[in-house]
Amino acid sequence: TTTKETRAFQTEVKQLLDLMIHSLYSNKEIFLRELISNASDAADKLRFEATTDDALFEGDSDLHVYIDVNKENRTITIRDNGIGMSRDEVIEHIGTIARSGTKEFFGRLSGDQEQDAHLIGQFGVGFYSAFLVADRVTLTTRRAGLEHEHGVRWESAGDGEYELETIHRDGRGTEITLHLREEADEFLDSWRLKSIIHKYADHIPFPIRMLGTPLPAAEGEEEKPAEIETINQASALWTRSKSDITDEEYNNFYKHIGHDFEDPLANLHQRLEGKYEYTLLLYLPKRAPFDLWQAEAKHGVKLYVRRVFIMEATEDLLPRYLRFVRGVMDTNDLPLNVSREILQQSPAMDAMKKGATKRVLGLLEEMADKAGQSDGENQDAAANTDFADFWAEFGNCLKEGVIEDAGNRERIAKLLRFSSTTSDEQSVSLSDYCARMVEGQDTIYYITAESLAAAKHSPHLEVFRKKGIEVILLHDRIDEWLTSHLNEFDGKKLQSIAKGELDLSGIGENAEQEQKEHEEKVKAAEPAVKKITEALGDKVKEVRVTDRLTESPACLVSDQFDMSSNMERILKQAGQ
Ligand code: ADP
Ligand code: MG
Repeated sequence: TTTKETRAFQTEVKQLLDLMIHSLYSNKEIFLRELISNASDAADKLRFEATTDDALFEGDSDLHVYIDVNKENRTITIRDNGIGMSRDEVIEHIGTIARSGTKEFFGRLSGDQEQDAHLIGQFGVGFYSAFLVADRVTLTTRRAGLEHEHGVRWESAGDGEYELETIHRDGRGTEITLHLREEADEFLDSWRLKSIIHKYADHIPFPIRMLGTPLPAAEGEEEKPAEIETINQASALWTRSKSDITDEEYNNFYKHIGHDFEDPLANLHQRLEGKYEYTLLLYLPKRAPFDLWQAEAKHGVKLYVRRVFIMEATEDLLPRYLRFVRGVMDTNDLPLNVSREILQQSPAMDAMKKGATKRVLGLLEEMADKAGQSDGENQDAAANTDFADFWAEFGNCLKEGVIEDAGNRERIAKLLRFSSTTSDEQSVSLSDYCARMVEGQDTIYYITAESLAAAKHSPHLEVFRKKGIEVILLHDRIDEWLTSHLNEFDGKKLQSIAKGELDLSGIGENAEQEQKEHEEKVKAAEPAVKKITEALGDKVKEVRVTDRLTESPACLVSDQFDMSSNMERILKQAGQ
């Protein structure tokens, strides 16, 4: 028959394998985490599909992972009785990277091992990490519900090709056998494997089993055969009480669901009771996922209903601007077997989304408060950097929040941090700004520009410097949209200093004196203004005597309701 064939890996897979082996060689043990994580995902999927089709269990609903070590053959086998794969699924999932953003991903690799390991982890090398320790990998699988004749055998030495064959397989699920490389001997030691399982998989909600060591025989008795042991704790972490969970357990769980190599920046674990009951275990990553700015992100928050995994959603469970949040929401208030569409429209889901949004904003407020407090006497460096780190990675997402989430606009606006004429770093909050306003000032002044340098050197700033008025310097692309949605903060108007008539009379210590001088200047300049107006003709709307400048002779100003020149520039770039 023609069921046996040899296929070539997609080019990207070959590249990825090479890269991985070179950048992760000191981190080999993660192969076990990745393969267990896949087995756990497969069990999740089966349990979910079986909620509407019990026959998929084929009489065996004891979902688990079994790990077998064979020292003679130098193999490790990881076997699950999860959903399994059809032949087409094997071709699609094992041997190709069918993911958008692959190019960008390769472009971002730096050659720095630690940095690349982080990126690779996020990208989800997953299955391929088997080749960190194995020079040959054999996988057999059968998808739940398919005939026994539709099993699949896949084998590869990780060198560009793989073999594929249709086989007879009684049990459903997937078994992966790793033929260990010589330098991976350490993993033949059961104790070593057990300690890795504890480290990475205690929180996995399915038992991970291994053969124990045989007990020594008592006198006159026969040696007892070794028993099968469950190695991990196997309870869903979020269902346990906070006081029983160590930081390490929280962090390891994050790495599992967040597909990250690093610890998270912060977590939030709460059981909420009220009209709807649900549990949140949410995390803020330390670094932005590589696809944060791509239209279709791969990962988000996972929804569980009564501890059964339902779906991973990037936008249904939290608003889009919080798409960097990872974690789990579990509720008793949704039916298990309904479609995604119905879920999306359910009031329970809506309430959870609102509640989770509130809690995430609350966590950010706490972090921002801590950072603010530690500015003063008792420097708490950790707290101080947490919010700053968060802002550096995800600040622009929060700006989207101001635009997107009118209901929480005020709260989000308080979390914004900007550069200003007092700080190049984006560390000035609008409240800080208001607290520093000079006498008579009731407006928050800002300027938008292409870069921080351009903003800092704008001639519009001259008069503000002279009067000692702070100006917020906006230089991110999104800031134009931000300011068009954020007109007010704490009862104070936000105003661009490059737009409209700028009335600074009455502000600052020498206000009266300056006002007088201004009136004199306007009078004296009348003939000049007339001449310039005639010379420029239609090119400008109006020529005015200004207090804006102290050194430059003239500057261009947009009308209050016109586009700013920065916005014009952005639109031109976009081809509008
Ligand atoms: P990821 O888990 O991030 O999707 P992996 O490389 O780890 O990436 O796995 C790729 C895909 O292969 C999975 O999404 C899944 O569809 C399939 N897969 C891997 N291992 C298993 C398994 N044990 N059972 C069923 N499907 C699996
Ligand atoms: Mg995986």
